[in-house]
Amino acid sequence: MQLFKSLQELRAWRAQQTGRIALVPTMGNLHEGHLKLVDLAKQHADVVIVSIFVNPMQFGANEDLDNYPRTLDADCHALAERGAHGVFAPQVSDVYPRGLAVQTYIEVPQISETLCGASRPGHFRGVATIVAKLFNMVQPHTAVFGEKDFQQLQVIRLMTQDLSLPVEVIGMPTERAEDGLALSSRNGYLSPSERQLAPVIYKTLTALADAIHQQGIDDEIALASARHELEEHGFRIDYLELRRRSDLQPARADDHELVVLVAAFLGRTRLIDNLQFTRHA
Ligand code: AMP
Repeated sequence: MQLFKSLQELRAWRAQQTGRIALVPTMGNLHEGHLKLVDLAKQHADVVIVSIFVNPMQFGANEDLDNYPRTLDADCHALAERGAHGVFAPQVSDVYPRGLAVQTYIEVPQISETLCGASRPGHFRGVATIVAKLFNMVQPHTAVFGEKDFQQLQVIRLMTQDLSLPVEVIGMPTERAEDGLALSSRNGYLSPSERQLAPVIYKTLTALADAIHQQGIDDEIALASARHELEEHGFRIDYLELRRRSDLQPARADDHELVVLVAAFLGRTRLIDNLQFTRHA
């Protein structure tokens, strides 16, 4: 497996390639969820490149940019074992040579302003901009993203469509621990007792989907019950919302393809999760 630490090295390598290339963008500190993205990417391409870049543009002023776990050696080891072909781990100065204050950016309107976008202003501008840049740097045929970050996936899909980027975007179902907790680099911030409580998030989403899908319970009643359940367990809810899948606008009674999305704090750690389900016609 090759490690490219600069754009120049990556470009030199890219110019030699003739096969189909898949990109898996990450911020590193890789877990089994990331490695499953690599497995899926391998099914769609001859060569898989994983980017590892903690993107300062998508972090807010009071967020965990400085403390975000950086484990490049262990990540490269895991990726080599998993059969990735290359890792692109550029420096911030290589990605944003003119500095963030004057960086050209991409913003996908409407969908970027809701849910995580409302709580984290500028977050999806940072995400859309770095993903567009990575697409231009790596020039992949396809790119794989996790449904764990469902809003991010839909932002990237819309950006790719809006800008006519020649990249096929593939989503992968969320990889979970045995107790249902979605794998995340941020789970490492949880204390042992918080870690024990954390699976309540997924249980609550499953119960809510079941209430609406199987039992035909009214959306607002099901949502109120789910919010109550989380608060009872000591979560501080940022949002818990039922949305239609395509553009994440509020779900109306005649929307059938739904997703429930949640962001909640457990102590100081902000966890997100979501679950897709169908409402019977
Ligand atoms: P991150 O390093 O957190 O930015 O994530 C990099 C990619 O891995 C994104 O496409 C995430 O959606 C995806 N990802 C993170 N956690 C999971 C998970 N538990 N299951 C599936 N994909 C995931």
